[in-house]
Amino acid sequence: MQEMDTVLSTWLRERAAEGLYRNRTIRQSPQGIDVIVDGRPVVNFCSNDYLGLANHPEVIESLKAGAERYGVGSGSAHLVCGHSDAHHALEEELAAWTGRDRALLFSTGYMANISVISALVGRGDWVLEDRVNHASLLDGGLLSGARFRRYPHVDAAALERSLRQCGGRRTLVVSDGVFSMDGDLAPLPELAGVARSTGAWLVIDDAHGFGVLGENGGGTVEHYRLTQKDVPVLVGTLGKAIGTFGAFVAGSHALIEFLIQRARPYVYTTALPPAIAEATRTSLGLLRNDSWRRLKLNRLIQRFRAGAAGLGLALMDSCTPIQPVIVGDVRQATERSARLLERGFLVSAIRPPTVPAGSARLRITLSVLHDDEHIDRLLVALSETACGPIA
Ligand SMILES: *Cc1c(COP(=O)(O)O)cnc(C)c1O
Repeated sequence: MQEMDTVLSTWLRERAAEGLYRNRTIRQSPQGIDVIVDGRPVVNFCSNDYLGLANHPEVIESLKAGAERYGVGSGSAHLVCGHSDAHHALEEELAAWTGRDRALLFSTGYMANISVISALVGRGDWVLEDRVNHASLLDGGLLSGARFRRYPHVDAAALERSLRQCGGRRTLVVSDGVFSMDGDLAPLPELAGVARSTGAWLVIDDAHGFGVLGENGGGTVEHYRLTQKDVPVLVGTLGKAIGTFGAFVAGSHALIEFLIQRARPYVYTTALPPAIAEATRTSLGLLRNDSWRRLKLNRLIQRFRAGAAGLGLALMDSCTPIQPVIVGDVRQATERSARLLERGFLVSAIRPPTVPAGSARLRITLSVLHDDEHIDRLLVALSETACGPIA
């Protein structure tokens, strides 16, 4: 047998030759707009901290107070002795905010998605997923052991045709609320209608909708004014617009009790630090009550789109802070991102397999911490780095 390191090094070299090698930058500052990465100051256009809450003074204060009160580690899983009153209060507030019976905290969104899908379906059942769903949803579907099918992106009619062929057992329909690499919305009213008429159960992961969409920041579901009946399983994450860490599932009393019994990643993982739950409660209060954040963000999104359209950039159908510019070729995308970095802008190049082959892109994300001037400067830099031959 070959040495492990020899095999892995060969793979890594091939990866680099295809332009698909992934590297990390090292950030020396808090999350925000003016950040220091790899020792240099840059303007950040790739964070998911859409509302600027990750470094908000009140959120930091609550984290400190939470640590004073509860210490740092939660000590065990929720079902042993890790479930604190901070966690419990946050679950109740998340249930109220989403207009659902109950909410259940998870340590990450990835785990929440794997948990929900593999607890609800198994061998002999069906899972149907949007083709460009987040990796954690696709992985959850594969891990569940259920028969797995993808339907064309946001195509409720194709989903319905596919559902009519899935005879027999339980069927789960699973979709992002806001697609994480495209920024567009799932057609939730249509998906809910198809699920209802075929008896399938609908799971929506609104990692990028919460905090940003809807009058109270309730996400895609609030945006479309849908209820727990329409979308019985709602997943949200806390590390993006909410600015902290963790995730939750919201739904009926029966769903939450079932997950507590059956979701293995829930049962066998240490609970989040309670101080994180305290910080999240403060963050939720800020984003619910201060609608100026959503208003400002929408204004910035409009400004960016109008400017980008003027430059003839290939935008996607997105009304959210995720505003990808499609480049296509992997090397062009990487080169463009490097050139933007030289001009002081941090914009990530997203390549396959995260996005379909041939659709490499710059994933630009906007934050309420940006000002008009940041947007205008980015647009100038985008036009100056536009394709052309690579230097
Ligand atoms: C980020 C993301 C997740 C994962 O959430 P984490 O809390 O970061 O593990 C799940 N679903 C979608 C759509 C995401 O964008």
